[in-house]
Amino acid sequence: MHKASQSVLEINLDALKHNYHYFKNRLQPETRFLAVVKAYGYGSHAQEIAKALAHWGADYLAVAYVHEGVALRDAGITLPILVLHPQPVNFELAIERCLEPSLYSPNILRKFKEAARDQKAYPIHIKFNTGLNRLGFWENDVDFIASELRDTSCMEIRSVFSHLAASDDLDEQLFTKNQIESFNMIYTNLCDVLAIKPIKHILNTSGILNYANAQFDMVRCGIGLHGYANDPEVDSQLKPTASLKSIISQIHKIEPDETVGYNRAYASKGYQTTATIPLGHADGIGRHFGNGIGEVYVNGSAAAIIGNVCMDMLMIDITGIECKEGDEVVVFGGSYSAEALAGKAHTISYELITGISQRIPRVITGKI
Ligand SMILES: *Cc1c(COP(=O)(O)O)cnc(C)c1O
Repeated sequence: MHKASQSVLEINLDALKHNYHYFKNRLQPETRFLAVVKAYGYGSHAQEIAKALAHWGADYLAVAYVHEGVALRDAGITLPILVLHPQPVNFELAIERCLEPSLYSPNILRKFKEAARDQKAYPIHIKFNTGLNRLGFWENDVDFIASELRDTSCMEIRSVFSHLAASDDLDEQLFTKNQIESFNMIYTNLCDVLAIKPIKHILNTSGILNYANAQFDMVRCGIGLHGYANDPEVDSQLKPTASLKSIISQIHKIEPDETVGYNRAYASKGYQTTATIPLGHADGIGRHFGNGIGEVYVNGSAAAIIGNVCMDMLMIDITGIECKEGDEVVVFGGSYSAEALAGKAHTISYELITGISQRIPRVITGKI
């Protein structure tokens, strides 16, 4: 295993491949796999993971914004790319780079139709709101959508989709089943009105695990590819794709009545040893991990983060841990779960892994 000599986010393609196949194997053979690679591939490296996923047979990619799709095109990625939340200001660019918009409101549909007026059957995706109340047409927009599409050949509906609000929460099964049912009705209605049969999809990672009978024509998997699935049982069968590693910059011996860090937030509890790590809130390890909430691993032992997390550094308690300056520190990855660390600060793996700043070099390990 590669030892860190500075702060790095290691992205392991063997782990990604394992996770991809774990989810792929749960699908019907005809169900397409859309890999969600928004937010720099959940903080990893969108271009590298998209290339790998394309190589292993992913059918579709999705990003949130147009510029994320442009970065994939610049890297030579040719898979179809769904843009989940495109902004009208970028519609021309989207068309130029063959990025397929999710259209989710009358306003957005009209604006895209205008931008695509010289196109022939430009692929679009229609998003319905079935209870998340975030983005999406309402059920009674079907006639509007149909009338806008009937009189034009510039756009063609490639898929119709919706998004579940609580696919990971088994206490919300009734709500989720209702979402799936109303999506079924809306889809059928739109298809009947327009005499079309586009790709139908609603499941994200937890949906794939908990609502297997709603796979339809495609699923959209994001966090699961990175080894987290909002379910400890499943997590134990996945492999974390990203590992955040750093090193010990300096070791201090402190005495009773000394303090550590800004605002003297940590007070020593006797003779202690502390280490300073080159990672701070500007790198995505937020202040909420300070003051004993978070811990990192030094030569296999847990070391608490003490005092306030600084912008570029944090300090840990290494009293009793065998280590020296330059030794590797693991923040998460491998057997140290990002979900567990995130949970200590009342957040989730999604937020922790997508928040690792672009200042941290990404190192790709493993093979396509
Ligand atoms: C982010 C996102 C996904 C992926 O969700 P995961 O829980 O990470 O699998 C799927 N669909 C939509 C609409 C999203 O915004």
